[in-house]
Amino acid sequence: MRRLLAANWKMHLYAEQALTLTQQLRAAWEAPELRTLPGIVFPPALYLRELAMQLAGSSIALGAQNGYPGEFGAFTGEISMAQLAAAGATWVLVGHSERRQYFGENAELLRKKVQDAQARSLSVLYCVGETLAEREAGRTLFRLQTQLQEVLSENIIDWNRLAIAYEPVWAIGTGINATPDQAQEAHAYLRMQLAQLGAPADQIPILYGGSLKPDNAYALFSQPDIDGGLVGGASLSADSFLAIAQAHLQTKPL
Ligand code: PEP
Repeated sequence: MRRLLAANWKMHLYAEQALTLTQQLRAAWEAPELRTLPGIVFPPALYLRELAMQLAGSSIALGAQNGYPGEFGAFTGEISMAQLAAAGATWVLVGHSERRQYFGENAELLRKKVQDAQARSLSVLYCVGETLAEREAGRTLFRLQTQLQEVLSENIIDWNRLAIAYEPVWAIGTGINATPDQAQEAHAYLRMQLAQLGAPADQIPILYGGSLKPDNAYALFSQPDIDGGLVGGASLSADSFLAIAQAHLQTKPL
């Protein structure tokens, strides 16, 4: 099943706010229609254990925004993939543009993260996307191909535990979303590239991320290769995230 809707809370919310938002989403997800839409919440890691208890038995999974390869080790400040899994995470984000840009994460590290996450039974939401300069230079598709190949090729243990997020860097947190046509072109290309890597590409969720909001979600989700969304800012309020979820249900009924 390709439908999927994810919330990336980034470095936002105090513990009580995170708990309240989780409870609101969990309650909303009890509705029979919404229960058919798999959700993922990526909170700050500090809240994982508590939120795992809150979400137990719901169709909202819990993910970590970042993880370090391995189990234990002398890596001050890091949380291992094994620790995340033990805390109740079942997903991890890898390759988010903020990690690439602000924390210097390169392809070699991302390869290790993807492989180790899957080895620890986590599913990976791998993020790719071009910068504005790359788009303006006509290099968008080349960039996407490179980001898939250098991290995923001959590195995937289980294709069933992989989803892709197409997140143009120029659209993240800017209020400027890719047009439905721009996003569809990128998603279709990513699906073709996944097939070339040997993936069951027609089964892999490819999510759009980048200023996804209630007022643009319907048009984006109407595209055939946009299977769902990775939502940043608009996932911090239950109302706007649920409005995006409703747009998903309208455009992609079971
Ligand atoms: C993100 O950080 O993954 C994201 C898409 O952010 P925003 O929705 O705020 O652009």
